[in-house]
Amino acid sequence: MQRCQRWGPLASVSWVLLRTCRAHSGLPSTACSSPERQQEDGVWKDFSSRLATGPTFQHFLRNASVPQEKPSSEVDDPPPYLTVDELSGRQRKVYLETYGCQMNVNDTEIAWSILQKSGYLRTSNLQEADVILLVTCSIREKAEQTIWNRLQQLKVLKSKRLRSRVPLKIGILGCMAERLKEEILNREKMVDILAGPDAYRDLPRLLAVAKSGQQAANVLLSLDETYADVMPVQMSPSATSAFVSIMRGCDNMCSYCIVPFTRGRERSRPVASILEEVRKLSEQGLKEVTLLGQNVNSFRDTSEVQFNNAVSTNLSRGFSSNYKTKQGGLRFAHLLDQVSRIDPEMRIRFTSPHPKDFPDEVLQLIHERDNICKQIHLPAQSGSSRVLEAMRRGYSREAYVELVHHIRESIPGVSLSSDFIAGFCGETEEDHFQTVSLLQEVQYNMGFLFAYSMRQKTRAYHRLKDDIPEEVKLRRLEELITVFREEATKANKAFVGCTQLVLVEGLSKRSATDLCGRNDGNLKVIFPDAEMEDVTNSGLRVRAQPGDYVLVKITSASSQTLKGHVLCRTTLKDSSTYC
Ligand code: SAM
Ligand code: SF4
Repeated sequence: MQRCQRWGPLASVSWVLLRTCRAHSGLPSTACSSPERQQEDGVWKDFSSRLATGPTFQHFLRNASVPQEKPSSEVDDPPPYLTVDELSGRQRKVYLETYGCQMNVNDTEIAWSILQKSGYLRTSNLQEADVILLVTCSIREKAEQTIWNRLQQLKVLKSKRLRSRVPLKIGILGCMAERLKEEILNREKMVDILAGPDAYRDLPRLLAVAKSGQQAANVLLSLDETYADVMPVQMSPSATSAFVSIMRGCDNMCSYCIVPFTRGRERSRPVASILEEVRKLSEQGLKEVTLLGQNVNSFRDTSEVQFNNAVSTNLSRGFSSNYKTKQGGLRFAHLLDQVSRIDPEMRIRFTSPHPKDFPDEVLQLIHERDNICKQIHLPAQSGSSRVLEAMRRGYSREAYVELVHHIRESIPGVSLSSDFIAGFCGETEEDHFQTVSLLQEVQYNMGFLFAYSMRQKTRAYHRLKDDIPEEVKLRRLEELITVFREEATKANKAFVGCTQLVLVEGLSKRSATDLCGRNDGNLKVIFPDAEMEDVTNSGLRVRAQPGDYVLVKITSASSQTLKGHVLCRTTLKDSSTYC
């Protein structure tokens, strides 16, 4: 069985940095007032001389071999220049802040799981933090600008830190660390550590190095890191749903997208470890899991040799991929089947899929299984075949529309959502109009719309011209948003008069007398908090609690929300969504 390697395979080394930067660390060179800091200063001299002798080649070879699984309390072997004690968090408090997509939410849970095991404590109070870690996103320029701005605020916090306290350490994790690497350390000298998306296991070492006043970074991309053995720690213990990462990276290389460069090659987590995590979540009483990945339905677990025969991947009709067809492995339909059998009361969702990977067996399974939500995210990006070709999406408008029809025939009542980019390189008014007309033709229930943001390294950056003026991009984006809202309102109004099965999440943010939950199609449903019958326990009157399934009669709809009144508490198995 193929296992993830602790340091990533040496063949995929892109960049690793560990540098001495005491002058920039904010640490004075003389002893300071706190005893802890005095001790640290002494330790630093010793540490520096040990570091100078450095890890040996043998050390890296040893760590690149297949690791043995360890009991959760055991601390990993320290590198030769650190002691187990230096590697430990010694109850230092970590504040984690997440930006970007759901993958980053899950990555934050993974990073925290690793740090917790290493003896760190978690805090939600920025002021009391000893370590601040930002889990970052690079997908658009604006996402990165938000982080640069945040670093300015943290710089003030760091400079005001009382000298009697342990120095504050700041780290950049995730896609921005991977994309900008050294540039971040050079531009913001107050950043102490960088960890790319495949380097979270290395966080205790990076923080131990940073503690001694040096900047430390690991932005190695791995060919097989899936964090399969790391059980993410749920941020909100009262939550009804959780994300479960099933694959990482992307091989599609859409011409506009930075993800293949920041998250590396596509790799899937072994089915057995996913099932184990879902089982645990079910035992904890969670009622919904969302299987996560950049290309969730390209899932292909090759860890079990007996399934690696020459069966090639089935693509959706009329679709092609930018890479050579992959052979063998356990595919998404198999995983979805297995996951949905664990707990019939647990809803299963998945995101983000690519339209090319919807073979009939996946659609049939979604149709047949009560607990797999009838909701498909089908990112189109554009309605113009000419633009789709420039984006290297592997389909035409016609093939996409045919897939929409096929999905709607296969899964009656399915909810559809999509992503669109306005103002991609060379997009004409006619191309834009094609996107408007696709929004009208499909009538999505939900949509995520963005203005194109040129990213260095991508194919579009090298080969195409970012020639649509900013104001035109924004005007087109506004037009797309307006049309999307009109069409979504029409699509969602079809629910008025219907009864929907809603998984209750808690109080509505806008009113303390209303509850909020989601229907099978993932639309938000708001309804008054009222007493109701419990159909599984005849005669009992109850009020809905988070994690309950209730039937709600829908009375009104907007582009984003449904409203109604609650009928009864039920179970997923006993209910059916009927109109
Ligand atoms: N893998 C999914 C797919 O195939 O569509 C999407 C994942 S991507 C992280 C999320 C969305 O960000 C994309 O669907 C796209 O609409 C948007 N996006 C990606 N790169 C972008 C860019 N350079 N400018 C604007 N939006 C972008
Ligand atoms: Fe980016 Fe395309 Fe991969 Fe989605 S499929 S993550 S848009 S490269």
